[in-house]
Amino acid sequence: MPDLQATVDEIYAKLSPRLGEGKVADYIPQLAHVDPKRFGMAVVTVDGAVHKAGDCDVPFSIQSISKVFTLTLALGKHGETTWNRVGREPSGTAFNSIVQLEHEEGKPRNPFINAGAIAVSDLVLAGHTPREAIGEIVRFVRYLADDETIAIDPSVAKSEEATGYRNFALANFMRSFGKLDHPVEHVLGVYFHHCALAMTCTQLARSGLFLAASGRKPLTGHTVVSRQRARRINALMLTCGHYDGSGDFAYRVGLPGKSGVGGGILAVAPGRASVAVWSPGLNQNGNSLIGSLALEMLANRTGWSVFGQ
Ligand code: GLN
Repeated sequence: MPDLQATVDEIYAKLSPRLGEGKVADYIPQLAHVDPKRFGMAVVTVDGAVHKAGDCDVPFSIQSISKVFTLTLALGKHGETTWNRVGREPSGTAFNSIVQLEHEEGKPRNPFINAGAIAVSDLVLAGHTPREAIGEIVRFVRYLADDETIAIDPSVAKSEEATGYRNFALANFMRSFGKLDHPVEHVLGVYFHHCALAMTCTQLARSGLFLAASGRKPLTGHTVVSRQRARRINALMLTCGHYDGSGDFAYRVGLPGKSGVGGGILAVAPGRASVAVWSPGLNQNGNSLIGSLALEMLANRTGWSVFGQ
């Protein structure tokens, strides 16, 4: 096992000349302002050691990575009945695709594509006002990361709301099949706000550690979810976490991962570590180009993989 800090430093040094490659998401106007040359990486091992490089303590918009946290909350509230509303199959289509919804009568294929995460926001809303549901999500992420400073960037939430035509279409389409319990504006209010959570790589890696530690926060001993549920969330991240790039990510990195259009990726090495990377330039599937490379290098050098030693 190589020295982890040296490995992270080496990855940063090797990738530095390539920073700026890929395309920054600009369909959410507020995201287009981010410096494309940013790069951060944080590896938190299950014993609590943190290894980091670059802009690892600069907050960025975690976007779809938040879908891991909302799914965890929805499963806690609704258990297996969650799956009456959203499937567990990879979509093979873009993150914002609407095509499958018509064939499957408004039931999205998985909780990580936009339609599926909108259905999950609807489940998190149960028994709450939108403001309460958003508060619950923020408190949950702060608890996971043991960091009370984590917050939503309201300018990003507003920017998404103003331009989220596709998400409004998805939500209205699902509602037309009777697949949402709450008004579209409320559901999307929750969705846009959790996507607008701003976190650093260090905070994000800490918040994902329970998935690397059989559902427990290893540093406090608190149980977040059962061992089986942690495994299952990891399975969904592996099969669906990178949309139609999930197969390629599994092939190259071999770890459960969840990406966001802000350029972040959270990856989980079960039993070992939680890793967050951030580089805003995206590949053709809307996943961080340099971030994926960084994780591929880390997996190669450490041997971390869910597919064998
Ligand atoms: N908030 C973004 C959207 O709804 C999330 C997409 C993503 O990160 N892939 O389009």
